[in-house]
Formats: sequence, C-alpha cells, structure tokens
Amino acid sequence: MKKTRIRYDRIAGLLFIVIVVLLISIGIKHIIYVNSYEYKLLNKGYDSDTTHYFLTLDDDKKDYILSLDYSDYLINILKEKYFMWKNIDRYISYYNENKDKSYSDIIAIVNVNADKKWYDESTVKETDTSLKESMLVNKFYYLPKDYDNNLNVVTVKNWYAFGERKIIDYVYDAFIKMYNAAKEEGLYIIINSGYRTNSEQVKLYTEREKKNGTEEADKYAARPLYSEHETGLALDVFTYDYATTTTFENSPEYKWLLNNSYKYGFILRYPKGKEYLTGYEYESWHFRYLGVELATKVYESGLTFDEYYAYYIEK
Ligand SMILES: [Zn+2]
Repeated sequence: MKKTRIRYDRIAGLLFIVIVVLLISIGIKHIIYVNSYEYKLLNKGYDSDTTHYFLTLDDDKKDYILSLDYSDYLINILKEKYFMWKNIDRYISYYNENKDKSYSDIIAIVNVNADKKWYDESTVKETDTSLKESMLVNKFYYLPKDYDNNLNVVTVKNWYAFGERKIIDYVYDAFIKMYNAAKEEGLYIIINSGYRTNSEQVKLYTEREKKNGTEEADKYAARPLYSEHETGLALDVFTYDYATTTTFENSPEYKWLLNNSYKYGFILRYPKGKEYLTGYEYESWHFRYLGVELATKVYESGLTFDEYYAYYIEK
C-alpha cells in the first residue's frame, strides 16, 4: 500500500512540474509573439500579405512603419520601382494632398523635389561639378559662381552653327560625330545656342523677366547659375527648314535625334508631358550631353535626367 501511495505522489508531482513548465513556455512564447514585428504589424491592421512584405525590411524600417498610423496605400508607395526611403515622409504628405495622382507620379515628383516650389530657398543647393558631364543643373541645383573659370570652351565652326556659338571641347567632338552621322542620311543639325557665360545668362533672363514677369520668365529661361547652357554641356539645335522653336519638332532631324542622339551622348532634356518634373516647357530643340554610356542608360530608362539623377546618381 505504502509503495503505491508513494508512486502516486511522485506521478502527481511530476505531472505538476510538467504542467508548470508547459504553462511557462506557452507564456514565454506568447510574450515573445506579442513583441514580434509580425504581431505588431497585424495588430496595427495590416493584412498578412502586407505584413509579410514589411517583415522582409530592416528593423529600423519596420520600427518606422509601426510609428506611423495605419494606411492602406503605404505598401503601394513602398513597392514603387523608384521609391527611396529618405523621401518616405514627403511621399506620404504629398500623397495625402494629391490623392488623384498615381503612385509612380508621387514618387517621381518627390524624387525630383517638384513637391516644392521651383527655386525653393530651403531646397536649392550647389551642384556637384566634380561629376562633370553627369552633373545636374536644374531649378534646384545651381552652379558655383566661379564655374566659368576653368572651362575649355571652343568656338563652333560656322557651318555647324547659326551665328557664333561656343561649346566645351569634348561636347563639340561628340556633336561633330552626331552631325556626320545625321548628314549621311541627308539631315543637317545646326547649333543655335551652346555655352553661355553667366553674364550672358543674366542678360537673357533679366530681359525676359522685365518683359513678361518672373513667372513667365521662369517657364522659358533659367535663372542665372541654374542654366544648363552655363555648363557648356547643352545645345539648342535647329535645322535649315525648321529653324524656330515651334517648327523644329516637325523636322526629320528632330525625329532622328529622338532615336539616335543617345548614341553620341546626347538626350532630349525637356520632353513633352514632363514639364511637372523638369520645370520646363517641352523643348524639342534642347539636348544635353551626358556621355554615351550615361545617355544610353537614361534613354533606356525612359526617365527624365532629373529623375535618373535622383535615383541612380545622387547618393
Ligand atoms: Zn536650351
């Protein structure tokens, strides 16, 4: 009798220990789970697909998402091809003010700073001229005041240009290659404007501003130090039969340039329908030299140079 009693006591004691251990481990598991990102994200309202996408991110990014209010669009913004973490707050606030716009437009606009006013004082910055032909000059990126000093500017021979035009030496070499390739097809690309000194840009801009006011002047001309023409990397081109800004886009030369200029290092800088990203009205005549490699990449990306620069070049 005594022996069995002892055995029952032992079994009961063991069972008790097992139950306690089980309960503790369930408790610990529960504590671990409620502190997990998965639990917190699901608890915040995200569905399991979205939660699993967020779980693939670094912890600081998961923490950031958890610090935000739940939003059903956040996942769409994050999954955009050109999404950049440094801009997430601006995407969210711009989206909330512009819900009619597509997610890809929201991303593009913020990436090129177009959620700000052109020339916004708190946004503008001096461009990195050490990037040379990859540098960005637009309504937010300006040239340093002494930029003119060390440029190797040459005068364009008169059969390539309307009037006396200047341009950086290596851009000139690239232009001549492009000119000759077009000529083989009976097309003539003539330079109508090339390098402008800062004082020439000052003159051009202030004349427009006096005549049409700041708003109109800003649409068609760059403020001094903000002009690509001051870099010596930009060309305005026409042809003999289509020698105005309104007619050039109808020329066979323009069509040829659209399909071939990148092979010589040039891109159409202000394309049609991209005014909200470039800050400029469509300019069929304005081409920018980027070098063959970069021009090809930009051409193939289908992006404006402003977008390309923001995502791929500026770190
Ligand atoms: Zn131009």
